[in-house]
Amino acid sequence: MATRRKTGKKKMAALLKSVQMEAPPKNHVEELQLQFRIYQRNSGVTCTKEEWMAAVTKLAHEYSKGETPTAQQWVDAARDATVTCDKCGGTGTYQWGACVNGRMTHSGTCFRCQGKGRQGQDDFKRNYGHNMHLRVI
Ligand SMILES: [Zn+2]
Repeated sequence: MATRRKTGKKKMAALLKSVQMEAPPKNHVEELQLQFRIYQRNSGVTCTKEEWMAAVTKLAHEYSKGETPTAQQWVDAARDATVTCDKCGGTGTYQWGACVNGRMTHSGTCFRCQGKGRQGQDDFKRNYGHNMHLRVI
């Protein structure tokens, strides 16, 4: 537990300034790596690490146009990569109910991917919420 001694406003400003000045440029790469790991963790809601990495790697190489992707390009790819929806298998339609003549009695737009058939970061975040909700009930 940190001490609760109040730091004066002036002192705090000086402290922040010194922290920023001391920050070496490589911290930017560390930030990107952290961001990448967050995206990677989010994707765990829907797919395995391997599936997600395959999608990200493909996209990162598209962004770098065949060159070795930069840290920024890796993060951009991690943000934009999508994977096949785990709920509807990429059809965008979720079916449920009883199977009659090979068709389910009910179907509707897949809520996990919102009918896109693929899930990206926005979907992972939303579905993480759904999963948490289910766990509570
Ligand atoms: Zn879906």
